[in-house]
Formats: sequence, structure tokens, C-alpha cells
Amino acid sequence: MGDVFISLGSNIGDRKKNILEAIHLLDNPPEIIIEKKSSLYSTDPIGYVGQDWFLNSVVEIMTRLSPKELLSRCQAIEEQMGRVRTMPWGPRIIDLDILLYGGEIIEDDELIIPHPHLHKRGFVLVPLAEIAPDILHPRLNKTAVELLRQIKDGHKVDVYREC
Ligand code: ADP
Ligand code: MG
Repeated sequence: MGDVFISLGSNIGDRKKNILEAIHLLDNPPEIIIEKKSSLYSTDPIGYVGQDWFLNSVVEIMTRLSPKELLSRCQAIEEQMGRVRTMPWGPRIIDLDILLYGGEIIEDDELIIPHPHLHKRGFVLVPLAEIAPDILHPRLNKTAVELLRQIKDGHKVDVYREC
């Protein structure tokens, strides 16, 4: 399956290293092949604000795994990297979310695709539109660029430059 997109986020420790390590762990041919990587973006935290800024990225993959198997793989990587679930929206070493799985629409207790917040968040739409501007949201029938134009979440999303 192609046109599968995963977002990565980190706001604890060496954020860049965490994101790159998660991409490396995800890259596991022939089951998962990384096709494209966005730039890294730094963003303000959303939700619980008393936490550090985030680094975010999106990758496009080609995969033989089903959506559920892919979710399990993402969760295994989060665990392997030592993510501890404290509070929802709270700080995290690494967060891997499935944004899109081709044109599939899935809504059950453990998996919602397209990701329910995909169309609302600049920190997801900016990197997604960088690598796949014309990709369609199968429920909203809009492209990543069109969705990005619609959002006004007021959060800054900057290309990350090392200082
Ligand atoms: P969040 O990403 O919302 O900050 P978590 O990473 O702790 O929070 O995920 C909470 C739950 O979201 C997971 O247990 C998972 O079952 C569920 N979930 C639903 N849809 C998705 C998706 N598209 N990608 C990743 N997780 C998802
Ligand atoms: Mg998550």
C-alpha cells in the first residue's frame, strides 16, 4: 500500500535524534519502506501548555502491513524508545500517528484514519503539504494544501534550524 503517511513528534530530550531514530526504526524493508521525509519543524505545544516546544515531521511510507499492524508497529517503536504515557497531550519522547492509509476510512475503538486531528493542525499539515501537497483527505475530499489554507490555529510552525 502506498500513500501512507505517518507523523512524528517529540518534545523531550534530543528531539531531533528522537525523530531520526524513530524514522530509522520504522524503515524496515520489505514491510515498511520510507519513501519521503519532510523537513523538521519546530512548533509550540498544543493542549497542556506548561511543556517544551515540539519538533515535528511527516514521512510517506510504502507498506505491506495492514493499518492495525502498522499501528502496533508504531506503538512498539514508541515503547522501545521509552515513551511513558503520562497525561493525554502531555510531554513525549516520541509520538507516531498514522495520518492517512491510502484512501481508507477506518473508525473503531483503537484506530481512526484519517487521523481525527489531521485537518486541524498546522504542525501536521505543513510537513504533509511539503511532501504531498496534492494528497486527498478521503473524508473531506480536500488536498493537504487546501486544508492548510483553511486552518487558523494560531500556532507557529517554523522550519527547524539548528543553533
Ligand atoms: P495522541 O497521539 O492523541 O497524543 P497517544 O499517542 O497516546 O495520544 O494515542 C492514544 C490512542 O490513539 C492510541 O492508543 C491509539 O489506539 C489511538 N489512535 C487512534 N487513531 C490513531 C491513529 N490514526 N494513529 C495513532 N494512534 C491512533
Ligand atoms: Mg499518538
